[in-house]
Amino acid sequence: MADTKYVFVTGGVTSSLGKGIISASLAKLLQSRGYSVTIQKLDPYINVDPGTLNPYEHGECYVTIDGAETDLDLGHYERFLNVTTSQANNVTTGKVYQTVIEKERRGDYLGKTVQVIPHITDEIKRRIKLLASSKKFDIVITEIGGTVGDIESLPYIESVRQLRWEMGQGNCVVIHLTLVPYLSATGEQKTKPTQHSVKALLEAGIQPDVLVLRTEKSISSDIRKKVALFCNVEEKAVIESVNVSTIYEVPLKMLEEGLDQVVLQKLNLPVKNKPDMSEWENFVHKLNFPKRKVNIALVGKYVELHDSYKSIHESFIHGGAANDCSVNIGYFNSENISDKNVDELMKDIDGILIAPGFGSRGVEGKISTVKYARINNVPFFGICLGMQCAVIEFARNVIGYEDAHSTEMDSDTKHPVIDLMEEQKSITEKGGTMRLGGYRCILSPDSLSYKAYGKKEIIERHRHRYEFNNTYLEEFKQHGMLMAGINPESDLVEIIELPSHRWFVGVQFHPEYSSTVMNPHPLFVSFIRACIEFADFKRG
Ligand code: GLN
Repeated sequence: MADTKYVFVTGGVTSSLGKGIISASLAKLLQSRGYSVTIQKLDPYINVDPGTLNPYEHGECYVTIDGAETDLDLGHYERFLNVTTSQANNVTTGKVYQTVIEKERRGDYLGKTVQVIPHITDEIKRRIKLLASSKKFDIVITEIGGTVGDIESLPYIESVRQLRWEMGQGNCVVIHLTLVPYLSATGEQKTKPTQHSVKALLEAGIQPDVLVLRTEKSISSDIRKKVALFCNVEEKAVIESVNVSTIYEVPLKMLEEGLDQVVLQKLNLPVKNKPDMSEWENFVHKLNFPKRKVNIALVGKYVELHDSYKSIHESFIHGGAANDCSVNIGYFNSENISDKNVDELMKDIDGILIAPGFGSRGVEGKISTVKYARINNVPFFGICLGMQCAVIEFARNVIGYEDAHSTEMDSDTKHPVIDLMEEQKSITEKGGTMRLGGYRCILSPDSLSYKAYGKKEIIERHRHRYEFNNTYLEEFKQHGMLMAGINPESDLVEIIELPSHRWFVGVQFHPEYSSTVMNPHPLFVSFIRACIEFADFKRG
């Protein structure tokens, strides 16, 4: 029936097996064969979006160009595919129920009892099909969050069962990702968890077409045969996904394993054009054989969970590869940094990045770090709150307003150099109300940023409520700060620079959300280059 074909990716045994990376890798291979592909993530939690979640819950909140606050897997999709995603690419139980309840209140259900089946499942199916309705994609890959058997994912699994039935054979493929653990005591790989999780899927009415087995050691052909036999899957559709040193190797591994071929065959699509992965291979080669190394300090307050800064981490990998350089990221908790210990902590560091964040905890440590970077001429990159900290530090220690602050941290400060945006002042609800998504920025021709981007106008993604207070604009300029990027509609300061410094850039937006393997972000590339030069300079 449908022109667009569907691939569903489910997970079994445990969470965190890397469904997002497998989905993104498959999408990459299909894209390289000439198919247009998009990926969607269905998240079973009840939050409407992850915007209100602490990063320690599910890691970073990713932001799309159209301003959706989404799961971090969408970041992987964009980084692998080099194609932007949108609001429609991330669905949560909260969103689904919100729509259904709004319809019920409007009276759209005409007196019927509103139930999980069919009303919730219909809404889930509508959102899955929505991406196909744009007619832009040959294949839509839908990743179901959570693990099969979870109470929360049941309506999603049921929706997949129904869709499969509606679309018929050849239009829809289910890939199930499981774990094959290795028992070192007996030296055996165990297939029982896989058998059990396939059984759980079968109980829900779904026979998976393809199994991807996550494993630490390569699996033997006996294990493949056994899994195929017990799980009613063709042997060639049992795919091994062995641990690799970087996630960027996964597409190459999946190509070797023939995942894309099996999927295309099952979708009745021609296995055309052997994928040209040479650029990708080149990138992976650079990662595995870097010519040099730099040490970067990433200063934030959610550093215990590296996923909190996923996109920054990946942007460093892209920007590093572009410079043939491996980036060693040291995570520093800003709560443990002060004027007293910052010199000691940062002494082997070639560049400092101050991360985005919210609230006052850890802010003084960030400000101490900015001061250290500014005074010692260490390459400095501030993102969002990181840029705001750079403004506060400059106001305090260069202009001389000792109590300068952001009104986010101190609403009574006499010098609110960072203040709530005008349009934010009447907002009381927290969810989805920040300045979100893509906004224009015009670069100053004499700026470092202009040199890095190589163009005058850019669009970057945002997620903030506070901004540089333009009342202080002239004073900052007089003391040597360059307002390197301005939003033409609102005059909001988007980029600050210190021209007297070797590399000092603060951005109100989030460049990390738009860095991809094939298109590393220019500011990250330029920052790493500055860090390399600084490291060389130190060595003399
Ligand atoms: N808390 C700051 C604001 O709301 C910075 C936000 C961020 O770093 N994403 O403006």
